[in-house]
Amino acid sequence: MQEEILRLEGIEKTFGSVKALDGISLSVKRGEFVSLLGPSGCGKTTLLRIIAGLTPQSAGSVILDGKDITNFPPEKRAVNTIFQSYALFPHMTVEENIGYGLKIQGTKKGEIKEKVAEMLSLVSLDGCEKKYPSQLSGGQKQRVAIARGLIKKPEILLLDEPLGALDLQLRRYLTDEIKRIHQETKTTFIYITHDRDEAMNMSDRMIIMNKGKFVQEGTPREIYKNPKTRFVADFIGLSNVFEAQGLEDKKISFCDRLYDVPFEAKGKVSLCLRTEDVTVSVAPTENSLEAKVTGKSYVGGIAVISCIFPDGSILSGTKQDKNLDINTGDRVFVTLDMDSISPLED
Ligand code: ATP
Repeated sequence: MQEEILRLEGIEKTFGSVKALDGISLSVKRGEFVSLLGPSGCGKTTLLRIIAGLTPQSAGSVILDGKDITNFPPEKRAVNTIFQSYALFPHMTVEENIGYGLKIQGTKKGEIKEKVAEMLSLVSLDGCEKKYPSQLSGGQKQRVAIARGLIKKPEILLLDEPLGALDLQLRRYLTDEIKRIHQETKTTFIYITHDRDEAMNMSDRMIIMNKGKFVQEGTPREIYKNPKTRFVADFIGLSNVFEAQGLEDKKISFCDRLYDVPFEAKGKVSLCLRTEDVTVSVAPTENSLEAKVTGKSYVGGIAVISCIFPDGSILSGTKQDKNLDINTGDRVFVTLDMDSISPLED
């Protein structure tokens, strides 16, 4: 088993009457890529700042590599933080920015030069060493910030929405780059984002936060397939949340039809079914339910059809035949893949 590099025990943080963090405990393994994902104000940045020593916790402990660093100042912690705003020194060249941390700790010039070159190559910025931040694009500035954050080989790199200020295409590209840099350096990354796709693409483990608490954690696939609560299902998106009647022997009733499901549920239950597990056709198929189209939208080029069922439930699905044109008001037949359904706790 991989060794634990970071442990948080019962972290609390209050700002006046605001409880920003409410009993957070976490264990991170060396080399792991963990994403903290959640809506604005859920406490992500506060937690990162507590790990970095930039914000004091109200209660709890921070253990880094087996050592209690709860009361250590930031410079005594082997962690580094990358911010959305890059925080580069404008009057310094790229190489001066990247080598700054080594310079102030008194490293010899030759060694700094060597390590800066290694970092420039890692972040694919060879040849940019003499440029100033004002001569760089947003994506290049963030690469410089990452190189600067990694040059002292921290135990953990904390990344606070590093791609938040960049356009979508660049974000996608840099997502792949950050993943590659993580794999090459084998440094532990803790990454904050609002963006589900970013977190899904990069992380070994995702932690969903809400109102200062962890509400679910797991691999991206586990969370995508089995969100435990309505909040997580909504936050992760592309899910149908609807209600049905749970019966004996792993059966549910939905729109007067009985279905076998992979869990026991009694009485009224909230369920979650991914859009791709709901198939919309123009002709009836085995076990399909009749419904009426209420709307159509496109997600990543795939048509997502919303349908209303006789009991008033609205579910979205994808079309079986990509060339088929389905419009609002049309009568359609919908098949639900009940093997993929999961129950929600609230
Ligand atoms: P965002 O995604 O918008 O950056 P976040 O999840 O990172 O949000 P935090 O910045 O950690 O959230 O804030 C958590 C809560 O603590 C919020 O209610 C915020 O208003 C409050 N808060 C954070 N920093 C301070 C501060 N210095 N003083 C007072 N309240 C603060």
